[in-house]
Amino acid sequence: MAPPDRAAPDGAPLLEVSGLTKHFTVRRIFTQPAHPYTRALLESIPRFGARRERLAAIAGQPPDLATLAAGCAFAPRCPAAFERCVEAPPETEVAPGHATRCWLHVLP
Ligand code: SF4
Repeated sequence: MAPPDRAAPDGAPLLEVSGLTKHFTVRRIFTQPAHPYTRALLESIPRFGARRERLAAIAGQPPDLATLAAGCAFAPRCPAAFERCVEAPPETEVAPGHATRCWLHVLP
């Protein structure tokens, strides 16, 4: 796991696993998550008072960091994965101060 290379303006931590990197403000994490992994994590949070039989879970297993394949590290578990995800997605700014690495945000 590579160390974060920069901090968001409000000090939000960065997640980085071989290109699974986001730069964001804390508010945007919760209101406008751009990366499918971030959205899946937020959907797995229990909500106080909400009636739900089971929490949403991310299918599959976390990647073995010692044997990461090329491409998006989330691809084996991403419900939105497509052919291009075998290549590493570039960092793409989706809003000022908010960037992500996901092919869904790269213009064709
Ligand atoms: S790059 Fe592809 S596999 Fe990775 S999060 Fe985006 S859609 Fe899913």
